Amino acid sequence: MITNCCSDTLRNYGPRDPIPGLEFGCRECPSVLRYTEHGWKLRRSNRVYIAAPFPLKHMAITLRFGLKSVGIVCSSRWLDLPTDEWSESAALADLSDVESSSMLIAINPKDWAIKGTGGRHVEFGYAVARDRPIVLIGERTNVFHHLPNIQVVPDLTSGVQVVKEFIETVTTVVAVA
Ligand SMILES: [Zn+2]
Repeated sequence: MITNCCSDTLRNYGPRDPIPGLEFGCRECPSVLRYTEHGWKLRRSNRVYIAAPFPLKHMAITLRFGLKSVGIVCSSRWLDLPTDEWSESAALADLSDVESSSMLIAINPKDWAIKGTGGRHVEFGYAVARDRPIVLIGERTNVFHHLPNIQVVPDLTSGVQVVKEFIETVTTVVAVA
């Protein structure tokens, strides 16, 4: 899975005569492009964002532990806020944390289909707009959950597994003229 932003960065800003070992960051996402003897390779940042209904914060924290055990960093600062203190700075921090992440994990159990205030759906939409792959834990409950680049898994354990595989996969980027 190569997000368009990385191949666009390579096409528009990649050096014409790279030497092996040369690295540069994608302009749109936290991935690093590295030139090797076998061409351009894409390495993902190990930061991921967890979006969840605020009352399911405990589930998100459990997931954060699971991710940490396989070397993945959860970027969601909202998990460490003492209460659901809603402010401009909290909203901006959420968007910034999505931005600095390789992917988003959405905790979306079926019984939360029409519950909650919807902050998690804003984060989900922002990740879609920023071309971040999404792992949805639970069930598809709105039309946007059917977009490509979204993988649905049933539980936290399989969520961790899918994220781990995605982050660890070093992808070859096809050199574009
Ligand atoms: Zn990119």
